[in-house]
Amino acid sequence: MRCAARGSTGSCGLAGVPGLVRRAWGPGWALVGDAGCFRDPITAHGITDALRDAELLARAVMCGTDAALAGYEATRDEAALGLFEISDAIASFAWDLDRVKELHQALTRQMAIEVEMLRALARAPLADPDHRPAASPQARGRAPQAVLEVLP
Ligand SMILES: Cc1cc2nc3c(=O)[nH]c(=O)nc-3n(C[C@H](O)[C@H](O)[C@H](O)COP(=O)(O)OP(=O)(O)OC[C@H]3O[C@@H](n4cnc5c(N)ncnc54)[C@H](O)[C@@H]3O)c2cc1C
Repeated sequence: MRCAARGSTGSCGLAGVPGLVRRAWGPGWALVGDAGCFRDPITAHGITDALRDAELLARAVMCGTDAALAGYEATRDEAALGLFEISDAIASFAWDLDRVKELHQALTRQMAIEVEMLRALARAPLADPDHRPAASPQARGRAPQAVLEVLP
């Protein structure tokens, strides 16, 4: 990762880095964590993302179908999208204190939705090809709202 500045103390500044989302799987390959979906680390959630993806992908591989792998990608995208857009907004540094407070409140709401989805995942059978982990219908309805409330 590129460092924007390196001072005499040896400390390293990190400029806002644009996020990216890649296709999560194909014949004989799959991506998890930063390789598949990278966000600026300013919101400190990348380790959770990587563990979430590893769990979702492992379950899809146990099912062994393309539909399960497509479900992995869709679930990852659903979980990541709100966090992704908020992280980009915070990493842009194009905010004042009121605005960054709103963005962090939206981040908290979005993380709560992800936690709910992961809790549901823990209760789900390990290799059920028909099960696509997702937040509750109420939470899914809130997911875009949490983002739209604060993003232009
Ligand atoms: C400055 C900074 C601070 C951060 N702070 C936080 C934080 O507080 N909390 C948080 O949750 N996240 C934080 N993150 C983000 C977090 O570190 C990442 O999102 C997370 O480590 C991603 O995990 P990963 O397994 O996807 O990738 P990585 O941790 O990058 O692991 C990928 C591994 O693959 C290896 N590799 C790459 N290419 C090859 C190859 N061709 N062959 C073999 N091996 C290869 C790499 O050497 C590396 O060891 C921070 C990131 C940065 C940069």
